[in-house]
Amino acid sequence: MQAAVEGGAVEREGARLLDGAALSQAIRERLAPRVEAFIAAAGRPPTLGLLLAGNDPGSEIYVRNKIRQSEALGIATDLRRLPATAPFREALDIVEEFNAADAVDGILVQSPLPAGMGADAEARVFDAISPAKDVDGFSPVSAGRLVQHRAGLVPCTPAGVMALLDHAAVDIAGRRAVVIGRSDIVGKPMALLLLHRHATVTVCHSRTVDLPQVAAAADILVAAIGRPAFVTRDFVKPGATVIDVGINALTDRGEVVAIFGPGSKKLAAFERRGRVLSGDVHPDAAAVAGAITPVPGGVGPLTIAQLLSNTVRAAEDRQRGDS
Ligand code: NDP
Repeated sequence: MQAAVEGGAVEREGARLLDGAALSQAIRERLAPRVEAFIAAAGRPPTLGLLLAGNDPGSEIYVRNKIRQSEALGIATDLRRLPATAPFREALDIVEEFNAADAVDGILVQSPLPAGMGADAEARVFDAISPAKDVDGFSPVSAGRLVQHRAGLVPCTPAGVMALLDHAAVDIAGRRAVVIGRSDIVGKPMALLLLHRHATVTVCHSRTVDLPQVAAAADILVAAIGRPAFVTRDFVKPGATVIDVGINALTDRGEVVAIFGPGSKKLAAFERRGRVLSGDVHPDAAAVAGAITPVPGGVGPLTIAQLLSNTVRAAEDRQRGDS
């Protein structure tokens, strides 16, 4: 049973379910007049340049969604594709063309780049993106600005988590936050954003000893690991806010049964589609948490909303000559 409550959330199994899809919609509605104002002032729409190299099926879906949602808001897109066999130089040439183009406001290079481009290809591409157009917030300049708590474009997933915490009126200052995961795109920027809001932050990873006990001290627990249902109820302090960043596709029926149970809706969905999504947080954590994000429908929709927000902001800043 679900019942609507204040703050864009619904209640289920004791924990408030933090509805990222509804907040994403609200963010996009708030962006719409800014896009209109930009078009009126600049005589062109805010524009996002995208590079998709190779043929990773997940990347195809992500890029299609980003383009669809950008265009629905009135943001123009310029998609460039490269084959998996393309040399790295061609990716760099496209980024440099986007950097130089006055009518391109944001640049997004979809990860992963093809293996043939080299192990350091992504880092080199992020080095090349103009910080003023770095709407993913992955360049070293954006990362450095975030460390120093200066104005800049912030990675979309952790920015979306902060928006969700604020929307749900979760207290952050002075609270203990534990982030499991230390990637450059999620874990580290997440920890910094919480730190800047005066949380006492612990960052955990694969070498952390006694991880469940460390996690169970958290008032705010963020799981960004990439392992289905890894965070079980014993990781969760009663009443804690649990943010599940993980998006894991399950294709093994036994795993679906083990995580969600034999009579679950997830198993029924699996029988229809042969695939379901699991977060990094086990469903039994909802019985202990005070608030929790669903997967799908939690952090995922906010990531795209923040990408749109960063693109509009980059366009406005460039129009004003701020960057
Ligand atoms: P990475 O693989 O880059 O990082 C995973 C992190 O988890 C690493 O720091 C790793 O530690 C840590 N980790 C792995 N195993 C364990 C373990 N057994 N115990 C403790 N820590 C562990 O992943 P990302 O940060 O890119 O993504 C994390 C998850 O979030 C994925 O499921 C991804 O699909 C999802 N995601 C979702 C987004 C969304 O929009 N909702 C956007 C981006 C990602 P170590 O550093 O020691 O290896």
